[in-house]
Amino acid sequence: MRLVFAARVHNGQTRKGESGPPFILHLAEVADLLAKALEEPDPELVAAAWLHDAVEKTKITRDEIESIFGLRVASLIAEVSDDKSLPEAERRRMQIETIGEKSEAARLLRLADKISGLRELAEDPPAGWDAARRRDWLQFATDVAAGCRGLSAALDLLFDQAAAASARSIDELRRPSA
Ligand code: ZN
Repeated sequence: MRLVFAARVHNGQTRKGESGPPFILHLAEVADLLAKALEEPDPELVAAAWLHDAVEKTKITRDEIESIFGLRVASLIAEVSDDKSLPEAERRRMQIETIGEKSEAARLLRLADKISGLRELAEDPPAGWDAARRRDWLQFATDVAAGCRGLSAALDLLFDQAAAASARSIDELRRPSA
């Protein structure tokens, strides 16, 4: 149901990656990371993962999500949704500054979201992003992740691996091709 719902509301949307991957793949990855990393299963957190970008990127409202999926799922999504009225730089600053105030589940969700973002940065970066812009996003993700550490050793490790892969891909970009 949450998969179908997520697929429907994000229908036609793609990620920023140059190959234009369908947006649903990002949601599936974040949900999968959380489903596998948690020692205690948390179906509401996995449901929130499927829907974590819905309020920010679709016309669906928090109230609609709450009426279908319940208060906790809607609250988790609200915790990781940026204020869209703010400019990008301010949204990033807010993410870094407020991460420590979020619930543990919201911090896990945020960490899985950043792992997915870094994997994409390494493997399928947005068209036109030069090394400086990629390095900037890697630093942003690292700053947010710093506030999420210590909750899941598995996710901490996956983040480090994704960050290292991103850093390598940026270094390769800088190296003149033979
Ligand atoms: Zn996301």
